[in-house]
Amino acid sequence: MAARLIEGEFVAKAITDRVRSDVAALGKAPKLVAVLASDNPGAKFYAKSQEKACAEVGIAYELRELPADSSAERLKAEVARVNADDSVSGVILLMPVPQGVNPREIQMAIHPDKDVEGIHPANIGRLFYGDFSLAPCTPHAVVTILREAGVDLKGKETVVVGHSEIVGKPTLVMLLQSVMESPTVTCCHIATRDLALHTRRAEVLIVAAGKAGLVKGDMVREGAVVVDVGINRVKVDGKTKIVGDVEFEGASQRASAITPVPGGVGLVTTAMLLKNTVECARRQG
Ligand code: NAD
Repeated sequence: MAARLIEGEFVAKAITDRVRSDVAALGKAPKLVAVLASDNPGAKFYAKSQEKACAEVGIAYELRELPADSSAERLKAEVARVNADDSVSGVILLMPVPQGVNPREIQMAIHPDKDVEGIHPANIGRLFYGDFSLAPCTPHAVVTILREAGVDLKGKETVVVGHSEIVGKPTLVMLLQSVMESPTVTCCHIATRDLALHTRRAEVLIVAAGKAGLVKGDMVREGAVVVDVGINRVKVDGKTKIVGDVEFEGASQRASAITPVPGGVGLVTTAMLLKNTVECARRQG
């Protein structure tokens, strides 16, 4: 079977179109501040692409660069400044943070109503009760992709590989959103004894492990829907290439639908960041 490609571009476009009209309806441009305390070229590139995505929908973007050796106190002071600034709708802490700084500690200092990543305990807690208004971007992208791709999740054997706080765990909670329509979810992680045993049962397979090629083609059930969250940089013939956690060639022979990497979940995640910025702007009133 040759799988249908679920392209992130189309899902992302529907979200950004809505964001653009929501921004126009707000009457003033929301503002997203990104705090970066690193010289990492990847992080700077990421900030540039965020700035571009914001510009396309009318969101103002400001990158606040702090020294790469900033202390946790210095970072928290910057967050406090942004929290108190009425002109700022939302804040994102860019990775990596300086050595010795716990990123979670800084993220927790962001006001929940300015938490564009949707990872503050207050916003994560709301997921539990089915309120996705400020949900973490990547899990929200995953469930939205499944919905937009017309996947009926009710009762489906659904396996999530990865149980990180930012992707795997919130994805599990978001999948279990409805009393009667939810899938049957299994979570696999680093301590799972036989990964293939689980993935081969999955009618819907979501992989977020950060390991290139972890899920081989023969680990995918015939007809499964596969969402590959992984973003891994690998060297192929001396060139750096971005690949997912799923071996695309083999998996797409067995799956009925699959997201590509790049061009899948990542694009929708960025769109969710814009959507959350508008939600934060609304919360500021
Ligand atoms: P993480 O390192 O915090 O967590 C990885 C998870 O995978 C852990 O729960 C771990 O138990 C599990 N895992 C690792 N090796 C495994 C194995 N061999 N078998 C089973 N489980 C295993 O990573 P993360 O932040 O959750 O990100 C996961 C991947 O998703 C990364 O590649 C990251 O770059 C990517 N990502 C993509 C987007 C996007 O927009 N597409 C957003 C966030 C993260």
